[in-house]
Amino acid sequence: MKRTSRESMNHIAVDRRRFFSAALGVCAIRPPLGFLSMQFAASMSESLTKEQRDSMIPSLVIEELKKGNERFRAGKMAPRDYLAEKRSSASGQYPAAVILGCVDSRVPGEIIFDAGIGDLFSGRVAGNVVNDDMLGSMEFACAVSGAKLVLVLGHTACGAIKGAIDDVELGNLTGLLARVKPAIPRTKYEGEKSSKNPAYVDAVALTNVRVAVENIRRRSPVLEDLEKKGSIQITGAMYNLANGVVEFVS
Ligand SMILES: [Zn+2]
Repeated sequence: MKRTSRESMNHIAVDRRRFFSAALGVCAIRPPLGFLSMQFAASMSESLTKEQRDSMIPSLVIEELKKGNERFRAGKMAPRDYLAEKRSSASGQYPAAVILGCVDSRVPGEIIFDAGIGDLFSGRVAGNVVNDDMLGSMEFACAVSGAKLVLVLGHTACGAIKGAIDDVELGNLTGLLARVKPAIPRTKYEGEKSSKNPAYVDAVALTNVRVAVENIRRRSPVLEDLEKKGSIQITGAMYNLANGVVEFVS
């Protein structure tokens, strides 16, 4: 479909074809229309570049994630050419964020943030808990590769949270759930404290996200230093399975 330049600009703002393309529009050096249009067209077939990623500050990465989630919720996801993204990222990757999420099949970070191949590092473990290997992965993502954001992504109705509340014991799962359990006594909740109460489960999940953020800072001097210098931000969010909303938590 042929568009006027004005329609094209609106299209860029509302229904961008690439995860971080709008970031170019808010850089200190605002590109002229022609450049932006070219970038827009080129971004149809390319992953995030080093220049694009390095020009972003952590708060901008959060804003882009929020906008991607809005596109997802609105059903206006960016049309993607995964094969082209695969080709453009094969020789190097410059993701803007690393997400520590749950293995839950309903919480795929790239989809709920409408991101493409090469845009996000993704670490997933039941209950989005911190362990040494995840910390090492996040340190690689930020200190070596240059990602600007560490995001702990919890979600509603999380089975790992329910399992921890219920004291489930099963093979290696027992040890994993032990990493979730510190969130239980730290959750202030008036009402039925049971895995049968969705509101309580979600309250514990939120605490669990906050505990993970604390653990990352406490257990990774590398990441803590990067955050103190302003190079990265470490934060958390909760994803609502029912309505698709990602709510960032402080
Ligand atoms: Zn879960």
